[in-house]
Amino acid sequence: MTDTPVPFTERDYAERMARAAREAAAVGLSGLLVTPGPDMVWLCGYQPTAFTERLTLLVVTPDSEPRLLVPALERPDAEAAPGAGALRTTDWRDGQDPYAAAAGLLRPHGRYGVSDSAWALHLLGLQEALPLTSYRALTTALPMLRAVKDEHEVARLTVAAAAADATYEQILSVRFAGRRETDVAADLTRLLLEQGHSQVDFTVVGSGPNGANPHHEAGERVIEDGDMIVLDFGGLKDGYGSDTTRTVHVGEPTREETRVHDIVREAQQAAYEAVRPGVACQVIDRVARAVIEKAGYGDHFIHRTGHGIGVTTHEPPYMVEGEEQPLVPGMCFSVEPGIYLPGRFGVRIEDIVLCTQDGGRRLNTTDREMALVS
Ligand code: ZN
Ligand code: ZN
Ligand code: ZN
Repeated sequence: MTDTPVPFTERDYAERMARAAREAAAVGLSGLLVTPGPDMVWLCGYQPTAFTERLTLLVVTPDSEPRLLVPALERPDAEAAPGAGALRTTDWRDGQDPYAAAAGLLRPHGRYGVSDSAWALHLLGLQEALPLTSYRALTTALPMLRAVKDEHEVARLTVAAAAADATYEQILSVRFAGRRETDVAADLTRLLLEQGHSQVDFTVVGSGPNGANPHHEAGERVIEDGDMIVLDFGGLKDGYGSDTTRTVHVGEPTREETRVHDIVREAQQAAYEAVRPGVACQVIDRVARAVIEKAGYGDHFIHRTGHGIGVTTHEPPYMVEGEEQPLVPGMCFSVEPGIYLPGRFGVRIEDIVLCTQDGGRRLNTTDREMALVS
């Protein structure tokens, strides 16, 4: 569980940047401009220790080697990044104009993809320095850039999922009734960290009526005997995400609760079985939705069926109506249908699924039957 994964090599990063440059060119972009965040981590392995107003910019273009512009004081950190050998680092000093320095790396009439999380401050600075350049958000221009995982990435996602599964197995034996949702959420956080997560992104404990709100995290409500409880948690382990949901019940469930849970489980199973290369993402959503609609709960399945996962816990591809992108071996994403009955309870079941040549492979493998807790 705590085995350290094989580190990504300079060559891995060089290949990612070369592919990103090719894909940028293929959609008519002069290149990609990436500020600190998941795209930068994925492309070159660099994550500044602090996100500051000082410009750090990775420039990936088809016609030259990748360049990383950094504040001079952060240069030693940047040069220690695992992908640093695959790019050329330059710097700017306090008192200089960082956008003038960046302009020297760009084409005056260039059309660039820019990372989603780039600060407006930086993008506006670039536009002022080079008024004839134009920009598109990276997720709009190249939504599938990070979507297809290589075997080393799949290995990390598998280990992260196993850590989340171990967390679920252990949470089943804690006390639920009489404790607040936030208490159980704190247990989930502790267990995820014990299982080797470096970061916990969310710990949803949606008890009783709170389970009917898919965005509920955890609150002061005291869990009661008879509650359904949606448990949805995840974060990052060794740089890759986990995200799983199981719905448990305190004591014996009613017939309706059992039926709703069975329907969600059937929908999740059907959507999982529909995973194979070439199937459009929206089909996964449609398959889950059809099961829930047929059972009469269609109006209560109020969110998309899934999202991609990688160096972040939510990213393209999205399993949603309108997403025609076909599944490709190596894509990893959640399959998480749910039914939400306002004022009463909710049920959601979520696994991370890998698309392989032969169909789907679940990375989360804990029991999907409704567990009874105390
Ligand atoms: Zn109940
Ligand atoms: Zn989740
Ligand atoms: Zn999810």
